[in-house]
Order: sequence, then C-alpha cells, then structure tokens
Amino acid sequence: IDEAEKFRIEYWALEEAKLQRMPKPKPLATRVALVTGGASGIGNATAQRLAAEGACVVVADLDLEKAQAAAAEIGGPDVAVGVQVDVSDAAAVQAAVDAAVLAFGGLDLVVNNAGLSLSKSLLDTTEADWDRQHDVMAKGSFLVSQAAARVLIDQRMGGDIVYISSKNSIFAGPNNIAYSATKADQAHQVRLLAAELGAHGVRVNGINPDGVVAGSGIFAGGWGANRAEVYGVEEKDLGAFYAQRTILKQEVLPEHCAAAVFALVGPDLRQTTGLHVPVDSGVAAAFLR
Ligand code: NAD
Repeated sequence: IDEAEKFRIEYWALEEAKLQRMPKPKPLATRVALVTGGASGIGNATAQRLAAEGACVVVADLDLEKAQAAAAEIGGPDVAVGVQVDVSDAAAVQAAVDAAVLAFGGLDLVVNNAGLSLSKSLLDTTEADWDRQHDVMAKGSFLVSQAAARVLIDQRMGGDIVYISSKNSIFAGPNNIAYSATKADQAHQVRLLAAELGAHGVRVNGINPDGVVAGSGIFAGGWGANRAEVYGVEEKDLGAFYAQRTILKQEVLPEHCAAAVFALVGPDLRQTTGLHVPVDSGVAAAFLR
C-alpha cells in the first residue's frame, strides 16, 4: 500500500480509538430533558414528544400555571414537572436546572426554545424592544446552555443541547430586525458550543422552523397581525399563506418541529453536531412567490 493509504488507515484507527473513549449516549427512555418555553407551541409539542419517547421532562416557562398544566397533561410528577423560569435571569435559570436534577436525578437533554417576538422595522424598534429580545433569546439560551453544560460535563455521560433557532437566523424578513439578530446569535451559539462541548460527548444542534402559526403564542400575541399586514393577507389565513409559498405546500406544525428535535437527539444521528435542520416545508431551499 502507498503512503497515502497507510496514513488513511492509521488516521481512522486513531479516530475510532477516540470514539471508543467518548461517553456512550443514554437511550431516550433513561434521559431527563429540560424544555424552556415548554408551556406553549413548539416547546410544548417537543416536551410531549420527548415524554412519549420515554424521557422525563421539565417544562420550564415564564408562565408557571401553563407550565404546570403542560406537565400535568404529559403525566404525573414521575414523568413531568412544571417550573417557572425567566431565562434572562441567571439565578432563575440555575434554579430550573437544579429543579431538574432534584426531580429526576440528573439532566441529559436541553431544548432552548423560550422566545418572543418584539420585532418591528428598524425605525420602530425601541431600545427596550432590542434589549428584551436579546435578553430572552441570545442571553437566555446562553445562560441555559451554560448552567446545563456544567451538569452534563460533571455527569460524564454526554448529552444534547438543541436550539429552536429560525429560518430568520439566515434570511432577512421584513420588520424583523431584533428577532432575527438574536436568532443569528443563537445559530452561532450552536456552532461554538458544538466545538467546545464535543470532547465531553455533548452534541449541540438546532432546528430552523418557519411559519408555525398554529398553536404559537408568538403569532397569536401580535406578531401574526404584524405578518398579516406585511403580506397583505387576513390573519386567519396566515398559516395557509405560509404553506402555499413552500415547495411542499404544507403548513409547518409544532409537532413537525418536535419530530426534528427527536431526530437530532434520538439514537440514530450520533455523529451529527453543529447542524441546523430546516423545518419549513422547503421555503429556505426555494422561496416561491
Ligand atoms: P410560543 O409563544 O407558543 O412559545 C414560547 C414560549 O416561551 C411561551 O410559553 C412563553 O411563555 C415562553 N417564554 C417567553 N419568554 C420567556 C422567558 N423569558 N423565559 C421562559 N419562557 C419564556 O411560540 P412558538 O412559536 O412556539 O416559539 C417557540 C420558539 O420557536 C421561539 O424561540 C421562536 O422564536 C421559535 N420559532 C418559532 C417559529 C414559528 O413560526 N412559530 C419559527 C421559527 C422559530
């Protein structure tokens, strides 16, 4: 064999040895998941899906009542608990992570989902809008990842962190400056944390949803009206409007996002980290007008 082939064989033997030393991922049925913003929309569907796959779930949300109701719907305190958290507050984030460890004896999987949209046009976005948007989504997901990573590293069993980022982390949309900027921040957190935590067997990935109108508190709370005005459609037709401009012509639902999260953290994609999966019926591949 020639030198190049010899190098290739030695290289892959070394890589294989490194992989053998990596912590083996635990099956989902023995994992503890923390889902921020898990009381509504995409986070709620994700909490439900992870629980259906066997994980114990901590639903952490700004709205305690809704978090507890979501946990109760998933099951009793043996499988799900609801806790209050403002992800922009470091002490509250630490308390939520501690609550997961206390309730279920550890933490294996974190979904950075909590979010809101205070986005307007450049000229209309106030300093307070910009600050809150960044506090919750950019700083908030950093705080959650940091507090969780300390536990994951300590446990020496690997783990997963998933960011619910957005198509808007890549593509500019109208009236969207503060929101999209924080989503771009989150997307880079995914790559940075993937690089930093990979040696601990912790994988960090994201999903990029688009146009998830059904069940979304963000859309119901004014963002839908904003979008409807921008696109010149009735707010009630917004889901269908988003669907018709996609390749698949299909509305994206919270459960589709939950399925993508499961695909990322489930047993199959063990060599995937630093990736964002689009969950957008193809709109990022080809925008059809
Ligand atoms: P949603 O409003 O239904 O859910 C967001 C949840 O986050 C709510 O339960 C809310 O109480 C909680 N939350 C808000 N601020 C919080 C805080 N400071 N601390 C803790 N919890 C807080 O909205 P959704 O559409 O399900 O969005 C969920 C995530 O998905 C967001 O990060 C959003 O940016 C992202 N996303 C949504 C879409 C979409 O089309 N809906 C597209 C791309 C990305």
